[in-house]
Amino acid sequence: MEITNHLEKTEPENTEEPKKRKKLGLTSRIFIALILGMICGVVFHYLVPEGFVRDTVFVEGIFYVIGQGFIRLMQMLVVPLVFCSIVCGAASIGDTKTLGTVGVKTLVFYICTTAIAVAVALTVANLINPGVGVDMSSILVDTSASEKLGQAEEVSVVDTLLGIIPTNPIDSLASGDMLPVIFFALFVGIIIAILGRKAETVHSFFEQFNDIMMQMTSMIMVVAPFGVFCLLSRTFANIGFDAFLPMVKYMVSVLGGLVIHCLIVYMILLAVFARVNPIMFLKKFVSVMAFAFSTATSNATIPLNIETLDKKMGVDRRISSFTIPLGATINMDGTAIMQGVAVVFTAQLFGVPLGPVEYATVIATATLASIGTAGVPSVGLITLSMVFNSVGLPLEGIALIMGIDRILDMARTAVNITGDAVVTCVVARQGGRMDKAVFDDPNAGKDVDEVKVQMS
Ligand code: ASP
Repeated sequence: MEITNHLEKTEPENTEEPKKRKKLGLTSRIFIALILGMICGVVFHYLVPEGFVRDTVFVEGIFYVIGQGFIRLMQMLVVPLVFCSIVCGAASIGDTKTLGTVGVKTLVFYICTTAIAVAVALTVANLINPGVGVDMSSILVDTSASEKLGQAEEVSVVDTLLGIIPTNPIDSLASGDMLPVIFFALFVGIIIAILGRKAETVHSFFEQFNDIMMQMTSMIMVVAPFGVFCLLSRTFANIGFDAFLPMVKYMVSVLGGLVIHCLIVYMILLAVFARVNPIMFLKKFVSVMAFAFSTATSNATIPLNIETLDKKMGVDRRISSFTIPLGATINMDGTAIMQGVAVVFTAQLFGVPLGPVEYATVIATATLASIGTAGVPSVGLITLSMVFNSVGLPLEGIALIMGIDRILDMARTAVNITGDAVVTCVVARQGGRMDKAVFDDPNAGKDVDEVKVQMS
């Protein structure tokens, strides 16, 4: 199998081809797969009779294997890609002062946007009142709820901070523990820069390995539409729409909060702090959002996010390779929005009054919970218990929303990774590390969309 990258086309025979035969880009293919997957899932849920063929062969067979296989392929890239690209980024930026400025700015933006997200959620929820007039007995309670909550262990802030320093970096790499991996990689990169020629061989090893990982990302993305189709088919075949009905107001509140945060807060940030066209950002980023929506995991989206910011928006990889994995680990605006709405929903359902002090507490704890939420499916529900505890809400509320959380998990993950990309654009632009011409070029990075696979 041979992979050809259109951006790097050198052969004259290729240059005229795109004009004659317009191929669908990756973004369009992912979208078509997403819609078809939803339709297929709904058809399976309502029209195909239960039984061996539907459940074992398709839903838990073909759809599950292809969907999970695709997620695993993307996850396979994460640790080596993050490690190598942070080492290379730190080694080429070199001075710790610049790295420190980027780090502090990124953290401040991540924390502030999450706090704003919770405030948006609390406002929307208080306007829609999702927990008023809901018949509790009609809600489907997820039986695995108590199990999942039981697994949640309380980790103190001090332990979380100390956990950033790995006692054994190999162990952190092996278990995919992002913060210690980022810490160690930054350290290695800085020292490569300090040692200069003495560490030349190691430096070029990491650069070459980084190129290999980028090429692997492009190759794997070729099969993304199949993965997305199967993931969506399985999800919708399993849940259908019945469970949503009593929860409609809750779902509308969460989705409303997500849309407002994405289309208003992020767009203002891009226009004001990055001075770039927010619409152009959305157009170029929508395929990454669709990918996060289908997989419900920020972590697996890291490679595609870095690739898209680099090729389509001209964001220096030395910035994004650090800010994107960091964001996928600690910056979860979408999750914080779900948590804000869940608090108001449960308080209304159980008649617990919330005042200004409770609201301020929710903003603080949901922001912290977002830092503690790992970028994998459903973890936001587990860290929600910390937010509920802080204002004395019954944990039964979590069991009630678990039944329909999968769809909201998909939507909030799309917002989680958009927040990472928006902050990365702001930090890169302010630090002079974004090529504005690439950002403004609507055709930039078509190669992310057009990796051509030729069977030989
Ligand atoms: N699925 C989310 C993510 O990966 C985390 C969550 O909210 O459960 O970003």
